[in-house]
Amino acid sequence: MSTASQISRIRQRIARLAGERRDAEKVLLQSPPLLKGSFTEVRRTCGHAGCKCARGEKHVCRQLSASVEGRTRTWNVPQRYAAKVQRLTENYRRFRRARAVWVRANRQIVELINELEAARTAPGFRDESRSQKG
Ligand SMILES: [Zn+2]
Repeated sequence: MSTASQISRIRQRIARLAGERRDAEKVLLQSPPLLKGSFTEVRRTCGHAGCKCARGEKHVCRQLSASVEGRTRTWNVPQRYAAKVQRLTENYRRFRRARAVWVRANRQIVELINELEAARTAPGFRDESRSQKG
């Protein structure tokens, strides 16, 4: 592959990644309130024969689970907070996804910029140690 077409391909990849990074950045900069963890709402029976749940009116159990210092902890969520907790945990998940996209795109852009630099530098002057460091 010629140097010109190599550089052209690197530029195209950088442009595409920069677009992905910009989209992720929009999500990150919105900076809505976040709540780490996942919200679940389960309906279940308690096992007591005389209970309303045995007649089909199941108990609703709303929980927030999150990893705290490496351990999963679970809290019951009162109904009046359920919608809010659900929304904030969705914000958190969306934020973390965008963060991962941003970090990955950024890392790839740095690698491509190094490739661009190597392709642009006259062979006798290339710093080979740089491309190995990444
Ligand atoms: Zn019951």
